[in-house]
Amino acid sequence: MFNKILIANRGEIACRIIKTAKKLGIVTVAIYSDADRDALHVRQADEAVHVGPAASPQSYLSIANVLDAVKATGADAVHPGYGFLSENANFADALQAKGVAFIGPPPVAIEAMGDKITSKKIAASAGVSTVPGHMGLIENPEEAVRIASQIGFPVMIKASAGGGGKGMRIAWNEDETREGFRSSRNEARNAFGDERIFIEKFITEPRHIEIQVLGDQHGNLIYLGERECSIQRRNQKIIEEAPSPFLDEATRRAMGEQAVALAKAVGYYSAGTVEFIVDCDCNFYFLEMNTRLQVEHPVTELITGLDLVEEMIRVAAGEKLRIGQEDVRLNGWAIESRLYAEDPYRNFLPSIGRLTRYRPPAEEQRADGSLIRNDTGVVEGSEISMYYDPMIAKLCAWAPDRPTAIRAMSEALDDFEVEGIGHNLPFLSAVMNHPRFQEGRLSTAFIAEEFPDGFSGAVPGDADARKLVAVAAYTNWKIQHRNILISGTVDNDRRRVPQNWIVTLNDQAFSLTVRDEENSIAVIFDDGMRLIVASDWLPGRSHAVFAISGESLSIKTARSGTGHRLRWRGMDVVAHVRSPRIAELARLMPKRQPPDTSKLLLCPMPGVVTTIAVSEGDPVEVGQILATIEAMKMENVLRAERRATIKRIAAKAGASLAVDEPILEFE
Ligand code: ADP
Ligand code: ADP
Ligand code: MG
Repeated sequence: MFNKILIANRGEIACRIIKTAKKLGIVTVAIYSDADRDALHVRQADEAVHVGPAASPQSYLSIANVLDAVKATGADAVHPGYGFLSENANFADALQAKGVAFIGPPPVAIEAMGDKITSKKIAASAGVSTVPGHMGLIENPEEAVRIASQIGFPVMIKASAGGGGKGMRIAWNEDETREGFRSSRNEARNAFGDERIFIEKFITEPRHIEIQVLGDQHGNLIYLGERECSIQRRNQKIIEEAPSPFLDEATRRAMGEQAVALAKAVGYYSAGTVEFIVDCDCNFYFLEMNTRLQVEHPVTELITGLDLVEEMIRVAAGEKLRIGQEDVRLNGWAIESRLYAEDPYRNFLPSIGRLTRYRPPAEEQRADGSLIRNDTGVVEGSEISMYYDPMIAKLCAWAPDRPTAIRAMSEALDDFEVEGIGHNLPFLSAVMNHPRFQEGRLSTAFIAEEFPDGFSGAVPGDADARKLVAVAAYTNWKIQHRNILISGTVDNDRRRVPQNWIVTLNDQAFSLTVRDEENSIAVIFDDGMRLIVASDWLPGRSHAVFAISGESLSIKTARSGTGHRLRWRGMDVVAHVRSPRIAELARLMPKRQPPDTSKLLLCPMPGVVTTIAVSEGDPVEVGQILATIEAMKMENVLRAERRATIKRIAAKAGASLAVDEPILEFE
C-alpha cells in the first residue's frame, strides 16, 4: 500500500479523496494555486504545495508543476480526481515513467476512450450498441449536410474531443446543420484545441443512464449498477440518482455486460463510467466512456456500500478486487443534487462571490431511516471565484425507497443555508417537488419542457400559501411579543398582541385571527380553516422548523423591508402582516414600479466584454448578434430580441462588467 498520495485537484473532490486516504492511514498532499491558499482541501491535507497562479493552465493543469510537487514531497501515488489532468494520458505516462502510481486506468485506455470517434469504433467492435451515425470525421459544412440527411434529422453534431457538454449542437434541418457544424467546430477548437467533428442521430427525449465499472490489474472487471443523470441543463447533469427508476433487471444486466465488454476491450482497470442514452422503448446506445472517478459517484457508493476511492487506491497498489459480480447488491435509493453557484433566475448563469453564509444540513441518519451526505470543498466565508467550476457542494440523500429519498432530499435542501451569491438551491427544491420528477418520468429534455420560460421560483398553491401565511403570522406574533416586553409599559391593554391581521402574499390577501395557545398559536382564516403553528423561531433567526398542524416545515426567514421573506421548497415569497387598518392604507399606496430597462442591453453575468458587434446608429434585426461576453470560460452571445436602432454603446470591448451593468442602449 502507498505511504503518501498527492491529490492533483482542488475543491470537493480533493476533500473527498483526502477523507478516504486518511481512513486508510495514507499521508496526503494537496496542491493549490494562488486563488486556493486558504482552501479547505489545503487545510485538510497533511502537506500542501503551491503549484502556480489562479489560472488553471499554469497551475492545476501544468504537468511540469504537478510533477515537481510530486518530486518535492516524495509522494508514491497521485489521484487526479475528475477534470483537470484526470483524463490526460501523457500525465499518467509521465508519472509511471518516474515510478509513481497513477490512481486511475492504464494510459492506453484513457487515450482510446478520450476520443469520441475512436471510442465509438472500439465500442461497436466490442459488440456495444452505439448511436446510429457516421463514424468518420467531417471536413466541411456541405459534407455535414449530406451525412445529416443520410442519418435523418434531427442530428447531433459533436466534437470528437468534446466534454462537459461543450462542442455539441442539435440540428433539425440543413441550415441548422451548416450553422451547427461551424459553431461546434469553433467551440471545439477554442475549448480543446481540436476541431474534429462527427455526426450522429439525435435521440429525442432520451434518458441518460450510465454504468459504473470497476476493475483490477489482474483482469477482473465488474459493474456496480447504473446511475440515471437525465436532469440536465446545457447538456450538463445537475441531479443524479441510483438506481434508475426506468430500468428493469434485464436491461440493467444487458447494459452492465456491454459496459464490461467495452472496458475489457481496452484492458481497463480502476473505476470508470460507460455512458448510454436510452430511448423510451428501452433501446440503449453508447455515448462515451469517462475514464476517471465521476462527480456523481456518491450515489453508487450509497447503494452499494463501497468506497470507490478506496477501491481505486487498492487497485492502483496492485491489489485484487475483493468482490465479484455476484457480490454486488443494490440497496435502497440515492439521489444527488449539485449545488451550483449559478443563478436559476437568470438561465443558470454562473455567479461569483463570497459565501457569507454556508450551513449545510447535518450528515446523519434521520428518523425515517434516510441518510444525508454532503460532499463539499468550501466553508462559510469561502470565495467562489471565476477561475474554476462553480459547484459548491453535492448533497446526497439515501433511503430505502425512492419517495423517501426524494422527501429526505427536499427537506435537506430546505435546511441548507447559502447566502452571498446566486445559487440553484430553489431550483433543485422545485425539481424535487415536481410531480413529474416524483413519478420518475425523466428525460434529458425535462428542464426545457417543464421550465420553458426559465425559472422564477416555485409558485405556492392554495394549501402551501396558507402554510406560509401561517408562518408569517407566527413570526409577526413573536416579534410583536418581543416589542411589548421591551417597551416596559405597564398598561395591560397595550400588553396584548392584537388578534386580527391581514396577511398579503403575492398580491393575495388573507384575513385571519391569531390566538395564543401557550406553546403554539392558532391561525384561523376567515373561511374557518384553522392551522396550529409551533416553532422555536425567534426574531433574528434565519432558519427554523415550523410545526404546522403536525407537519414539520423547514423554512428560511428574513426581513424584507416591512415584510417577512420566506423561502421553502423552491418558493421565495414576501408576506406582509398588517393590522386591518394599516392594510387598508397599504392598499391605497401606489405600487413602486421597477425602473424601465427595456431600452437597455444589460450584462447578464459578471464577465468581460469580448466583442461589441454593432455601432451607434446601427439598425438591428431580431436575432442579430449585439455583443459577446466571456465569463467562467463560457462564451455568451447576446442577440437582439427585437428590431431596434442602437442609440449608444455603453461598454467597450475588454471591459469587465458586473451583473446588470448596461452594455448598450436602444433608441
Ligand atoms: P460530454 O462529453 O460533454 O459529456 P456526451 O456525449 O456524454 O458529452 O453527451 C452529453 C449529453 O448530451 C448527454 O447526457 C445527452 O443528454 C446529450 N446527448 C449526447 N449525444 C446525444 C444524442 N445523440 N442524442 C440525444 N442526446 C444526446
Ligand atoms: P421595527 O423595530 O422597525 O418594527 P422589526 O424587527 O420589529 O423592526 O420588524 C420590521 C419588519 O420586519 C416587520 O414586518 C417584522 O415582522 C419583520 N421581521 C423582523 N425580523 C424578522 C425576521 N427575522 N424574519 C422575518 N421577518 C422579520
Ligand atoms: Mg458525457
